[in-house]
Amino acid sequence: MPELPEVETIVRGLSRSVVGKRIARAEVRLRKIALAPPHVSFEQAVAGEEIAGIRRRGKYAIIELGSGRALVTSLRMTGRLVVSSGRRREERGTHVILSFADGSRLSFADLRTFGRMRLVEPGEAWDRELGVEPLSLGFTQEAFIGMLSGRPTPIKALLLDQRRIAGIGNIYACEALWEARIRPGRPAGSLTKPAIRRLHHAVVSVLSRAIELRGSSVDDYVDADGLRGGFQNVLSVYGRLGEPCPRCGRPIVRTVLAQRGTWWCRSCQR
Ligand SMILES: [Zn+2]
Repeated sequence: MPELPEVETIVRGLSRSVVGKRIARAEVRLRKIALAPPHVSFEQAVAGEEIAGIRRRGKYAIIELGSGRALVTSLRMTGRLVVSSGRRREERGTHVILSFADGSRLSFADLRTFGRMRLVEPGEAWDRELGVEPLSLGFTQEAFIGMLSGRPTPIKALLLDQRRIAGIGNIYACEALWEARIRPGRPAGSLTKPAIRRLHHAVVSVLSRAIELRGSSVDDYVDADGLRGGFQNVLSVYGRLGEPCPRCGRPIVRTVLAQRGTWWCRSCQR
């Protein structure tokens, strides 16, 4: 499931390949994937637009159009945004195709069809429920301490709450908690300030390193060029049930927390 580092990698790839291109035609094959405001035709509105920029917010990729409108894209479980030249074989489960004047195209494919590409109007506050970007200057240690203070919520559930911090999913929540030596079920408000500082550092560090390795391909994630990431090879706990903890050697356990599989070390995460 693409999280912040995977979406960031896709966005960087798209920035290199499609910014400045003009959309000659939009084709929608599965209507529920491509959403538009009432009385607006997605295909008609998008055709003729220039790609002005691509950016990320949380786990969303935002394709900014010349008119000020944008295509806000959520990949959810299995969504893919892939650029291809005219000749390349089409991805399975392709639901939306933006064809450019030069013959290349940007395709949105999604086998499980949970993803969405939503056309939003200029200035529409579609992201008002999203929390702070963890790699922005706004995510300070003090802000994080304030966010956790007095909260009975398990710390892992809080890390996954997109209304507080935008972009962290199950992989990086597990990895950051392991790095900070914190038990995932600990009530957020019970963490000491040194522990919160360790976790703040771990969140920023693990996300940054994952971006450097172009994300984690634990399922079928690929970047905008169809290439797999590399961070799945250096995961410490996620998906490693029974393997030795890289820090203390005891076996990694898997429990369920907030309905999500949670991998951690009972011995060195407290
Ligand atoms: Zn351990």
